[in-house]
Amino acid sequence: MIIVIRKDAGKDKLEKLQNWLKACGVTPHVSVGERQTIVGCIGDVSQIDEGRLSAMTDVVASIKRIQEPYKAVNRQFHPQDTVVEIPVKDGPPLKIGGGNFQVIAGPCSVESEEQVVAIARAVKAAGATLLRGGAFKPRTSPYAFQGLREKGLEILSIAKKETGLPIVSEIMDPRDLELFEDVDVLQIGARNMQNYELLKEVGSHSKKPVLLKRSFSGTIKELLMSAEYLLASGNPNVMLCERGIRTYETATRNTIDLTVVPLLHRKSHLPVIVDPSHATGVASLVQPLSMAATVIGADGLIVEVHNDPPHALCDGAQSLTPESFAETMKGIANVRPFACR
Ligand code: PEP
Ligand code: MN
Repeated sequence: MIIVIRKDAGKDKLEKLQNWLKACGVTPHVSVGERQTIVGCIGDVSQIDEGRLSAMTDVVASIKRIQEPYKAVNRQFHPQDTVVEIPVKDGPPLKIGGGNFQVIAGPCSVESEEQVVAIARAVKAAGATLLRGGAFKPRTSPYAFQGLREKGLEILSIAKKETGLPIVSEIMDPRDLELFEDVDVLQIGARNMQNYELLKEVGSHSKKPVLLKRSFSGTIKELLMSAEYLLASGNPNVMLCERGIRTYETATRNTIDLTVVPLLHRKSHLPVIVDPSHATGVASLVQPLSMAATVIGADGLIVEVHNDPPHALCDGAQSLTPESFAETMKGIANVRPFACR
């Protein structure tokens, strides 16, 4: 970090600033030029509160970061890809990242045992390796179906027993962690990407893989900072998930820029999963986007599949039928050899 000092700031103020920086744990290096005085900060600049620093307007003219504010998720400090491992009963763990690609599939919401088990069997037969299903649902309307909650998690466990597929389900409240004992991957949804208390609790009380979804309005930096919360509090098993962001466009549910996949891979060592269902909101767009995401180098996909989309309690319009999911899996397999990574 480089701090440009105001021309009219006297020695006293500069000294005060240096002491403050030292107290933050960094070493300030002052260079006095003919036109400008700058202070270079050496050490762990993540300890510097940039808001407070920029408020010191009597001495600070401008601040230039030369390092990203995230450390644990930063590829600079961890050059190898993180490979997240998901335990599988009676078999080797499933790997995601570092060239290992997996497809997570299942309904948006758990509706009944019959529904989830039938979908789990179908997606497994088509090649999916993990089952998704929401038991606690974050809905825009308080009058909409909120999920089967504990009962929903029990149903997912039954489907896991029946098929052997590990399960992915969204956690919204850290007080529910105990209920998620049999869940293999904790999903933190778009609406909670910046719920820092949830991130800290999940990070410090669980070592289970976490699928962290980008929020509607989250920048790439904010997504990485949220992942940093999980790693900094003790859980290194994090997967980033791009599910599109909100723009002025209304033709699709969200807008997705797939550049995010190679970009995140450059900035971070964490696996990147793409959610073509929430990104588009349109079932017929899910296959082409899945194939494109595969080619651009995603480490996995999370796809919504329902056995009766018109009657789904949530997200029917974007849900594939088991048949169209099987077609999509063929398309993905066809393009996998051309994947960028
Ligand atoms: C979901 O996966 O069903 C979901 C609610 O996703 P998001 O948090 O991305 O909206
Ligand atoms: Mn959904």
